[in-house]
Amino acid sequence: MSGKRAQVLIIGGGFAGLSAAQALSGHPLDCMLIDRCSFTQMRPVLPDIAGGSLRKADCSVPLERPASKTGFRFVKGDVSRILFNRNRVVLQDNSEYAYDYLILASGSEPDFFSLDTVREHSFGIAHVDVACRLHEYLFSGGFDSIVVAGGGYTGVETATHIRKRLVRLKKNAVVTIVEPSSSVLKNSPQWIQACASENLRAMGIEVHARARISGYESETVVLSDNSRINNAGLVWAAGMKASLGAQRLECMGNRQGRIAVHNDLRFKENCFAAGDAACIGPADACFRMALPVTVSGGAHAANNIVRMINGKPLVEFRPSDPGFVVPMANGRSYGEVYGVKVRGWGATLLHYLISAYRWYGTKSRIRIMSSPLRACR
Ligand SMILES: Cc1cc2nc3c(=O)[nH]c(=O)nc-3n(C[C@H](O)[C@H](O)[C@H](O)COP(=O)(O)OP(=O)(O)OC[C@H]3O[C@@H](n4cnc5c(N)ncnc54)[C@H](O)[C@@H]3O)c2cc1C
Repeated sequence: MSGKRAQVLIIGGGFAGLSAAQALSGHPLDCMLIDRCSFTQMRPVLPDIAGGSLRKADCSVPLERPASKTGFRFVKGDVSRILFNRNRVVLQDNSEYAYDYLILASGSEPDFFSLDTVREHSFGIAHVDVACRLHEYLFSGGFDSIVVAGGGYTGVETATHIRKRLVRLKKNAVVTIVEPSSSVLKNSPQWIQACASENLRAMGIEVHARARISGYESETVVLSDNSRINNAGLVWAAGMKASLGAQRLECMGNRQGRIAVHNDLRFKENCFAAGDAACIGPADACFRMALPVTVSGGAHAANNIVRMINGKPLVEFRPSDPGFVVPMANGRSYGEVYGVKVRGWGATLLHYLISAYRWYGTKSRIRIMSSPLRACR
């Protein structure tokens, strides 16, 4: 590589891609970041957008901003293929970009499990524009029910924001969470499942357990137990998959399409993956999709590239997950952080404090910090 500066190409300008770009900044190399979207977004507060306590401008930032601050070149484009044998990335418009080192940080998107009518007509709560559309939809009225598919963190949190909003708008629509297992938050400790279920009941949110969504047509949600919910809006929080999946890239991966990486985050000689795109650990039990591992993973991949360029041995990535909070729009949140139980407003504020800390601009941070107060009005 002597004489020529190494070209590092990052796919994806989410938390993983941007923390990688940040870690590469100041090193004598050329960094380019490609994203199909012109802005980066703060996904953990998307339920607040749906409920109306935050606006798009509070949680999305044009990628040109970190590009000029951190010193990478931003290209807007949708990556369709990677030619690993030629070290090239191909976009939808067939333009190609060469790289010496690649960081795959293309994140995740809703998995509609081949339910075409659901994909076409539901709100998959993983993008700020969809969250804005959902918010408009709640205003427009004319429906009897809002069905939230999936009783995981995102589904439960979103249901509480929607319910709060509907109550404030004096709309009578019923909010129902449809969850295949016997309880919401099935991956959480028992006490969180119990407290969250009780809080949902107190907020007037119904839980339809042991059922899946099997179809959605003409605003009728069809469930696997043959029941139907008519005149309903459908919010999809039932599953996520890798955006640029392992199958498409012809690489090893898990059932969500997250790329299997070695312990140094490499999946090819000169290619690394981080964030939601990467399956870190065993395929059936890899690290969950969450910010702490995403941010540290992006930086770690970048640091290993710098080590490779300098002829140093690569370092093993040892991720740690400090825990989680399930934020509820009425302030009664629950979580476990470093093994300590947190609940109520303390847990709520912790969630927004961390979100604000990871975000850009004083005004947006203040808006994020004060979102639970607006949601709770
Ligand atoms: C509603 C919701 C709430 C969440 N709440 C929390 C929380 O409270 N705490 C927590 O820790 N985590 C939370 N998460 C998870 C967290 O947001 C993710 O783990 C994190 O955003 C992953 O970052 P990433 O950079 O890997 O991917 P992403 O954020 O998905 O970014 C990937 C980027 O790649 C781009 N991209 C994708 N495909 C292509 C392509 N083919 N070509 C070009 N660009 C492409 C996308 O446009 C995107 O900008 C939440 C997620 C959701 C959806």
